[in-house]
Formats: sequence, structure tokens, C-alpha cells
Amino acid sequence: MSGEYETSDQQETNHNSPKTPMKIWYHEIYTNGIHPDARFPRDRYVKLLDRLKSHEGSELFSFNEPKEVLKSDLLIAHDAKYVDDFLSGNLTEKEIKRIGLTPWTPDIIPRTRYLMGGATAALEQVVEYGGIAGNMAGGTHHAHYDFGSGYCIFNDLAVCALLALEKYGFDRVAILDFDVHQGDGTATILQNISNALTISVHCQENFPFRKSISDHDLPISADATNEEYLAKIKQAITLATEFNPDVILYQAGVDGLATDSLGKLNLTRDAMQQRNRMVFDISLKHSIPTVVFMGGGYSKPISHTIDAFTDLFVDAALANGKMVSEKL
Ligand SMILES: [Zn+2]
Repeated sequence: MSGEYETSDQQETNHNSPKTPMKIWYHEIYTNGIHPDARFPRDRYVKLLDRLKSHEGSELFSFNEPKEVLKSDLLIAHDAKYVDDFLSGNLTEKEIKRIGLTPWTPDIIPRTRYLMGGATAALEQVVEYGGIAGNMAGGTHHAHYDFGSGYCIFNDLAVCALLALEKYGFDRVAILDFDVHQGDGTATILQNISNALTISVHCQENFPFRKSISDHDLPISADATNEEYLAKIKQAITLATEFNPDVILYQAGVDGLATDSLGKLNLTRDAMQQRNRMVFDISLKHSIPTVVFMGGGYSKPISHTIDAFTDLFVDAALANGKMVSEKL
């Protein structure tokens, strides 16, 4: 499959131009690294790839295969013992159960390394060239400093936030987490980092039942309408804009859809799309480099999740194209 993707070596020559598509990182292990009997809907990654490749605007995207994440990048946000225990296959049964990607398979280890590598590569892309880039997985916001939970092993948002500040020298990073579940791991890892702003819009009556404290928590109730939801999103985006961030990390989970089996909300595909456009409008208006992380999506049938994620990446790519052409 490698022939279908650009290698990292080719990125050097791929400067953004009006014809430059949005870079999305993807690896087949995002699907294949999860056991086929797992309750987690692993096929969503390969199904989304097929959908984006057959989309009439498929030239909007460039799919790139990530490298495995550097261990030093994981250690910027995580406990060394936890990182070592995971990478060496020595998590306890209890720790694995809390993560929940069972039946557990050793392939989860390289999967996680590639998934985190996709996130850090997307960050590196926007650091260097601006615009919007994404990882076609991740948004692992329930991973904490020294344990994983809720399908999340390492926290790609926290790792990227700290890399942006400490490695790339940005002054302010805003994390917009619009997944239906609260970004609890991100909030706790970054709680003492004043130049990383965490904002979570989530369903109050949903997992995690013991919430963390984000810089701004904007919960909504399970019976919220599209309008009430979008009003909270607007509030969140205003808070982010006032913070004047140098980079936005966007957790774009679509598990708020009415069809979602874990979400509890009753939002429409159109509301999700409006939400995404509100984020990308701000990226565009203020020329803020933005990284898209997929987040949750567990609709039954899964096609509704794929629809909403297709909308997400199409709108991200359209906004990226405008941002890049404005720079030239
Ligand atoms: Zn979620």
C-alpha cells in the first residue's frame, strides 16, 4: 500500500500552494491494529478512507502514512513507567480493562505508536506551513498522565499541545473538544499549563461520570436541541478567540449524532457540519494553524458516523485551501 501514499521524505518538496490538498495522516493499522471482535467499530477508519477517496472532491486530500511516534514525544505528557509498561506489553489486566479495546492484541502497541505519530506529524505540518491538517484517528482525550481509559491509551491532544509550546515555541494553544464526552484526560494533564486553554462542550449525563475541570466546561443536557448545542459551540469559539491562540487543536468527535449508540444527544448531521464550519471559519479569519483529531463516532449503522466525518474532512480541506491561497 505504500505506493499510494507520500513518504515523509517527499514532504520537504510539498510546500502549500493553492493546489496543495489538505494533508491527512492515515495508516491501515488504525483499523487492523484492533481485534476484529472488539466492540469498538474499527472499520470506521478504512470506510472513511474509501469514502474520502471516492468523494467528488477527493483531490482536496493528500493521504500520508505516519511514522511511529518518538518515545520522547509521549514522555512530554505521560508518566515514564506507564509509557514503558504499555510499549513493552506489560500493562495489567486492570489497566487494559479500563482502556477497553478488548480483546487485547499485541498489534495495539504499534497501532498506538503510528496513531500518535499521525497526530504529531499533522501538528508539524501546520507548524511549518500553516493551514489545517488532520489525523484520521485519535482525539484520545480520555487518556490521563499515567493511565488510559475509554478507548484512549496516550493523549494525542495533550502531547501535541505540549509539543507546540515546548518544542515549537508557540505562546498559546487552544484545545476545542466538541466530542460528546468530556475531555477529562486532556483537562487534567494540562491543568497547570496556563498557556494551553482547554474547552470542552459535552453531554453532562455521559461518560466520564466523574468530570475533570477544564479551563472552560460547557456541558449540555441530553435533551438539548441543535440550536442549544450550537449556542454552546459559539460560546466556546468566542472564548478560544479571546485567548488569541497561535494554534488550535480540534477534537471533532461526531458521537453527538442522534444515531450514535454512546452519545445520548439528538443532534443532526447538519448541526455537526455547522459546528465544524464555525471552528474552521475562525481558523481562516485569524489565520490560526489548526489540527483536526477525529474523536468518537459510534452510530448504528456506522454509515452515519462516516457521513459526518466525511463532512468534517471536506470542510477542513476547503478551509485549508482558502487559508493557504490567502498566504500567497
Ligand atoms: Zn466520545
